[in-house]
Amino acid sequence: MIKIEKEKNTTFLNAAVTDFTDAMGYCEYKIPLSIQGIKPKPSQSLILGTKAHHAEEKYEQEHVELEPVLIEEIENEQKNIEFARENVYSTLSMPFEFPSENVLVTLSGRIDKISRVDGTLIVQDDKFVGRPQTYDQKTQPYPSQLLQVLAYLNSVYSGKRKNDPEEWFEMPHSSKKWELRICDRKTREPYKVFSDYQDAFSLHYLHTSLEKFTTIALDFIEPEHHNSKPKCNACNLKSFCEFRI
Ligand code: SF4
Repeated sequence: MIKIEKEKNTTFLNAAVTDFTDAMGYCEYKIPLSIQGIKPKPSQSLILGTKAHHAEEKYEQEHVELEPVLIEEIENEQKNIEFARENVYSTLSMPFEFPSENVLVTLSGRIDKISRVDGTLIVQDDKFVGRPQTYDQKTQPYPSQLLQVLAYLNSVYSGKRKNDPEEWFEMPHSSKKWELRICDRKTREPYKVFSDYQDAFSLHYLHTSLEKFTTIALDFIEPEHHNSKPKCNACNLKSFCEFRI
């Protein structure tokens, strides 16, 4: 849910990473619906995907022995680090100065897997899908998937869900890389992997998307319609949306 609060001269906009990626990667009309507190019923595909995530987490707990990560190790860029799956929470904070007000946007999330290898910060996100073959012709991930990993890569991190700045840490690095694994939901095996280093172009894409998300949420501009009937038909908010086509 997107929450907006004003305090003196600053507006605080808090949302989940998925509110942002769903809106800017799928449909901008989800923003006003999320501000109203409308939540979709979890779809069958979401329920099965969540189950696969839990199974993967359990598998790692049972089969991989990971050493606890010490703060001195995190601070040493030369040290390779691997955090346990689903054990790191992210907070992305981005200030914007608009003519009428200052805004601080905060996006919170939970990362599937984060590590640092040879100075490269790597964020991995797994998508467990029923028919991974639908990705055969795709050369790039969907915009919402890309925005999700970029948001994680540009966050501070914490081992606790509660968003407490005292708990935040950064991971020094020389480069940043994202990996999106499209996995078969039945076997949980990766079927296709999209991966790339973060460059100036992708960082610009993240910034402009965050700015547009903010201006729509604060009602400075109207959402733009994608004009795609199939997208509306597949939308999890279609029964609440007056802009459905
Ligand atoms: S029904 Fe269509 S216009 Fe409405 S939120 Fe969903 S995709 Fe967007």
